Amino acid sequence: MRYLVPVLAAVATLTAASRPIAQTPAAAGQPASLHAKQVKRLLIKNAMVIPGTATPAYGPVDLLAEDGLIARIGNSATERWPAADATIDATGKYVMPGIINTHMHWHEERVGPLPLQYERNLYLASGVTTAREVGGDFEKTKQWRADSDAHRIVSPRIVLYPMLANLLAKDEPFNRTRDEYRALVRRAKERGADGLKLIGPMDRDQVAATLDEAKKQRLPTTVHIAVGEATARDFVDLGVNCIEHFYGVADASLDGIQDFPPEMNYSNEIHRFGRAGELYIQHNFDHAKLSKLLDDMVAKGVAWSPTMSTYEAARDLVKAQNLPWYRDYLHPSVEEYYKPSMTRHGTFWIGWTATQEARWRQNYRVWMDALREFGLKGGTITIGDDAGYLYGSLYGFGVIRELELHEEAGFHPLEVLRHANADGAKVIGMEDKLGRVRHGLIADLLVVNGNPLENLRLLNPYGTDLMSYNGQVVNNYSAIVKPGDPNAKTVHGGGIEWTIKDGIPYHVPTLMNEVKQMVTAARAQRGRTTSQQ
Ligand SMILES: [Zn+2]
Repeated sequence: MRYLVPVLAAVATLTAASRPIAQTPAAAGQPASLHAKQVKRLLIKNAMVIPGTATPAYGPVDLLAEDGLIARIGNSATERWPAADATIDATGKYVMPGIINTHMHWHEERVGPLPLQYERNLYLASGVTTAREVGGDFEKTKQWRADSDAHRIVSPRIVLYPMLANLLAKDEPFNRTRDEYRALVRRAKERGADGLKLIGPMDRDQVAATLDEAKKQRLPTTVHIAVGEATARDFVDLGVNCIEHFYGVADASLDGIQDFPPEMNYSNEIHRFGRAGELYIQHNFDHAKLSKLLDDMVAKGVAWSPTMSTYEAARDLVKAQNLPWYRDYLHPSVEEYYKPSMTRHGTFWIGWTATQEARWRQNYRVWMDALREFGLKGGTITIGDDAGYLYGSLYGFGVIRELELHEEAGFHPLEVLRHANADGAKVIGMEDKLGRVRHGLIADLLVVNGNPLENLRLLNPYGTDLMSYNGQVVNNYSAIVKPGDPNAKTVHGGGIEWTIKDGIPYHVPTLMNEVKQMVTAARAQRGRTTSQQ
């Protein structure tokens, strides 16, 4: 990680008052002179600070980022700080650490090409300053990791956790022998991986060999547990560091196996996802087994990255097909990918039934309770969106929805933000570098229009509807607003104003305006292609 940033920007000041509340972030998109500029000293004035550790907000205070690090927190006027090269006025705003997305993938195409900058912008606009890619094109992501660290691209910081298959040469055979698993782990280390993501049905001996080699190579591991011989019980016993999604945790809590009907075909996405939604509501689900597993996860320091937002369409398909931000921000290549099909991963919607949704909803309730129990026991939980596969799961938007679902699972908003900040940093091994607003740590900071502890949806890059009273945004429980008062109105506001990574400020309305332009251009292009056919 490099922190040396040249001074490029002239002194600039932006005031909070310059942005009317009743606009979406995109509509407010005046090009901001500070956007993506590297400055030596960036001053954030008059901010309420959310530390990122589930301790209460405090302030207002000033913060100074110098050479990409948090250099001062206090009062810039009375403490005679060095002169800043640029200032962000955070009056009335909240500042929190950047979000660590522990489960994502870079997609250069879905059904049709997808500009990488589309995904990068959406993640930054959703407050993601660090993105752990858990499977992708190894060499490309490695290059983007370097480009992001050197600030050659506008992108979150990248943490590279390849799947072992990403390390195979073209046409190289992989027969899943223990020696092959070990060799691929060593290859990952030699080629510069930060960690490993295991996936697919694995037998216990394969897991043992892989995790043993990963420990020897000092590579941290996370796993998407498929329905295989090894469940979370095996992965936890054998020393995995993190579990993605929910599958293996539930499998390990059954007395016996899941009651699959005779026609079950694991190659069929409808069968696979339909039955996965019944996992936690199996008649042989044993809560004592679950609790013991969660205890062991806590004792061994195994984290959980549940990616609850990924599967939401399974419990409410019509909502997921009609989200209001699709109008301006859904790229047609993603839109096409989402459509029901028998071939694409996660598009299992053909004939999706009310019963399947009901079972998924029941499944979520038990899953959320398990997650809450894990948190209460002291388990480490992170935020990941795994977007770009299932309806509704759109890059960045999925991260903010994930926060909302953690609140629904029973966590206090301060705890939810700790999942996104300090806990995420711990899981990627960077807890001494980022994830908190603290002197000396990397200046990855979000300047939020409003208080996300009051409403996590304020972080949504589309913004959200708020109550205004005489032109001021107020809490909708406010006692000053009487029933029938015509001065109470709905306004659209919120959103993150600035996402700051390594001390470099990115203006979210500008990022979202660019996304809208990419979408508009791609739709026009697709329209031309279709009309030529
Ligand atoms: Zn994934």
